[in-house]
Amino acid sequence: KTGWGLIGASTIASEHMIEAIRAQQGHEVVAVASSSADRARDFAAKHGIAGAYDSVGKLLADPAVQVVYISTTNELHRDQVIAAAAAGKHVLCEKPLALDLDDAQQMVRACVEAGVVMATNHHLRNAATHRKIRELVQGGAIGRPLFARVFHAVYLPPHLQGWRIDKPAAGGGVILDIAVHDADTLRFILGSEPVEAVGVSQSASLAREGLEDGVMAVLRFDNGVVAQLHDAFTVPFAGTGIEIHGDKGSIIGRNVMTQKPIGDLLLRDAQGERAVPIDHEGLYARGVARFCAALRGEGEPAATARDGVRSLATALAIAQACRTGKSVRVAPLE
Ligand code: NDP
Repeated sequence: KTGWGLIGASTIASEHMIEAIRAQQGHEVVAVASSSADRARDFAAKHGIAGAYDSVGKLLADPAVQVVYISTTNELHRDQVIAAAAAGKHVLCEKPLALDLDDAQQMVRACVEAGVVMATNHHLRNAATHRKIRELVQGGAIGRPLFARVFHAVYLPPHLQGWRIDKPAAGGGVILDIAVHDADTLRFILGSEPVEAVGVSQSASLAREGLEDGVMAVLRFDNGVVAQLHDAFTVPFAGTGIEIHGDKGSIIGRNVMTQKPIGDLLLRDAQGERAVPIDHEGLYARGVARFCAALRGEGEPAATARDGVRSLATALAIAQACRTGKSVRVAPLE
């Protein structure tokens, strides 16, 4: 069996990832590390996990742990990934990988040098809806893609109204939280890199300490596509979606910027409008399955470490564009 250690007694581990790991044959969750001994013990008891540690070092020293899943707050990812790599553990890390690009690149290098697999937990590219959109776009179903619109304004549930809205040092704010996913999803669908960002952010009601709880941004991709993003923590009733508009057709995804295996696709072109059938599949389970396959030497993780670096570079460009009121070049591929 391959043993997973959870670094972070987090909501995402509780709500999605433990189940996704347990869905993989031959994989088990063997330990959790928290900064608090009580939280580690409570979390382990609640989820039936054998090992509970009050430090990352203790978890990394456990020989039953071969893989770590890191879902602490964002400022901690860098040192935890680097320590995991040094201990020879494979790493599935949450987004955003880090708070700045140099740190993210350092994490990737540490994993390459240690010969461990590193992946980023961008779940949306595992959605059957987004995979179908990519297939349609890249197969020419809408002709030349010209524009994309991402509707990802949601209401942050009360149990998540913590560091995301009041801790800049932990990497809070809607840009690092949600726009980073949009960037990854668009890169995946378009097979193209964002090169330029403009944006205007908002701090309407939930966010404090200079953080933003809403943003509208525009990205230009290297294939010419212009993409509009709308992300928020403050909007309960907008609904989510994505649209890709080409010179021969449009794909409209509704209810697809979500953690759940749901949502509908429409394709509209000169032949009219029709629903595109989707075989939904759990997003996190598929992401973990691809990661486990990569551990066996079978292909790449769904979102690689490099994908995490690119989505972070894009989110940082959006944040800087909002701060400065200027167009910002997305840091080029390393
Ligand atoms: P949480 O706030 O639930 O957990 C983050 C950290 O907060 C935990 O590691 C824990 O620290 C600490 N914590 C948890 N409960 C308490 C408490 N009662 N009192 C004090 N501290 C507490 O964060 P999320 O699960 O929402 O997010 C974690 C990471 O996962 C982030 O990087 C986020 O961006 C990412 N994420 C990714 C998603 C995706 O779909 N890919 C979705 C949601 C989040 P300790 O471990 O030390 O106990």
